[in-house]
Amino acid sequence: MESTNFIEEIIEKELAEGKVTGVVTRFPPEPNGYLHVGHAKSLAINFGMKRKYHGACNLRFDDTNPTKEDVEYVNSIKEDIKWLGFEWDKELYASDYFDQMYEYALKLIRDGKAYVCDMSAEEITKNRGTLTEPGVESPSRNRSVEENLKLFEGMKNGEFKDGEKVLRAKIDMASPNINMRDPILYRVLRATHHRTGDKWCIYPMYDFAHPISDCIEGITHSICTLEFEDHRPLYDWVKYNCGFGDNPRQIEFARLGLTRTIMSKRYLKRLVDSKVVEGWDDPRMPTLSGMRERGYPPEALLDFCDRIGVAKSNSMVEVGLLEHCVRENLNANATRAMVVKSPLKLIIKNLTAPVTVEVENNPTAENAGAHKVTLTPEIYIEESDFSLDPPPKYHRLKPDGMVRLKGAYIVKYLSHEIGEDGKVKSVTCEYIEDSMSGGANAGIKVKGVLHWVPSTAKDVVLNDYDYLLDEVEDGRDFGERLNPVTKTVFLGKQEPFLDEAPAGARYQFMRLGYYVKNKKGEYNLIVGLKDSYKG
Ligand code: ATP
Ligand code: MG
Repeated sequence: MESTNFIEEIIEKELAEGKVTGVVTRFPPEPNGYLHVGHAKSLAINFGMKRKYHGACNLRFDDTNPTKEDVEYVNSIKEDIKWLGFEWDKELYASDYFDQMYEYALKLIRDGKAYVCDMSAEEITKNRGTLTEPGVESPSRNRSVEENLKLFEGMKNGEFKDGEKVLRAKIDMASPNINMRDPILYRVLRATHHRTGDKWCIYPMYDFAHPISDCIEGITHSICTLEFEDHRPLYDWVKYNCGFGDNPRQIEFARLGLTRTIMSKRYLKRLVDSKVVEGWDDPRMPTLSGMRERGYPPEALLDFCDRIGVAKSNSMVEVGLLEHCVRENLNANATRAMVVKSPLKLIIKNLTAPVTVEVENNPTAENAGAHKVTLTPEIYIEESDFSLDPPPKYHRLKPDGMVRLKGAYIVKYLSHEIGEDGKVKSVTCEYIEDSMSGGANAGIKVKGVLHWVPSTAKDVVLNDYDYLLDEVEDGRDFGERLNPVTKTVFLGKQEPFLDEAPAGARYQFMRLGYYVKNKKGEYNLIVGLKDSYKG
């Protein structure tokens, strides 16, 4: 049985009481950056309500801040939502309601509930008061309706400079909720909007535009994050004073925070602009496009959103849980393959001709089958799988040691050669007859099983990634927490069947980790094999 979260409890009560007859939600991104995994949580909730109550969920761009917004972001947001598998009912833009919003502002003025203020934004902030002291009323507060109408029209017609005048709600400068102390509804701003162009030189503030957009669209539940809890009285004020009814109801839930990364578009943009990463879709980014490049299956992300549930108070979720979900998905679905990250030549002295062997595609999946690999007289193994000075319990190849080659024979060390650089250049061994699985000597006890690739293996680039931030969550600015090395590139060799792998294909490279083939034909580390998550 599906469990019910607190938002669903509210909705079910309202449905039972007849307060609402259906459920309409919306996902309202501001197109000022790419979506991140926190947005996936919000998407999962809003589209989850649509699914559970057979309702609707719209995609509405809250595009009221033209200086920060762009179509590039609009397009990426749509692509990311589709990637997660969600289908919105309508694609809407707050800017489509600018005319209506202007009319609602006029209504508020006529009703004596809004006034044009001559103070600058700084002065307004200064005069807002504090939690213990009331704010100071603006000298413009008692302007006549006629004068306000004329001035507001002047604002719209470009008679004032940017920031010279604002329209404010006339609520209560002594309200214990500072958001209610005559908040700004409109400002003068000359900026070209990505949809309305230069039609407007005044733009509505979020707190005014958001409730009106929700109301116009017939949203029943306006789900947002906790930082808007203090804005709810203002949301309701706008809703009622513009003449709408009780719906929508604003419900707040806790923002998702993830360890070892940051999750605000503002900060993510800083990483992009300062070239700490290669772009919004860099595989190290917590953006959805970054996670796509990283090779995270969308199903794993949704599973993660499901497992963390819907909370009422903010908390940090271990990135290990997200990785656990990704790993679990890949363990069940990813084909196993052999890739050697740092190749070392292994000569099998007594192997005179190539032998074809089979390697399982996925031991966790029934009927996944196997693929063929050719064991050649010379192969490559991992440099770290041979040691002249092995530590205790070293089960890989060492002088006089024996190991099994994955899917093939047991081999026994004979000799090694040292190169000019003083490092081991090659190792020579002999294979033991009939030691393949099912053979007479297959039972010989060896502890190590090494992955390998044949001499025909082609070169491959592997990109290994680390977390962007260090592990100490102590409130330092993320600039001070940046991990100095977050990308390490290896030139390895790949099993030949991988030559044909399409971009986007995900594999478990045995003993190394899960990797995805990127558009450049390189492999990105998705996640390592070891699960550090302790539940
Ligand atoms: P950011 O601070 O990252 O820019 P935002 O809240 O400004 O985020 P919006 O584009 O306004 O981003 O967000 C669209 C929706 O996604 C909003 O309803 C917002 O509350 C929600 N959302 C944003 N970040 C998170 C998060 N970390 N966890 C859950 N929901 C989030
Ligand atoms: Mg925002």
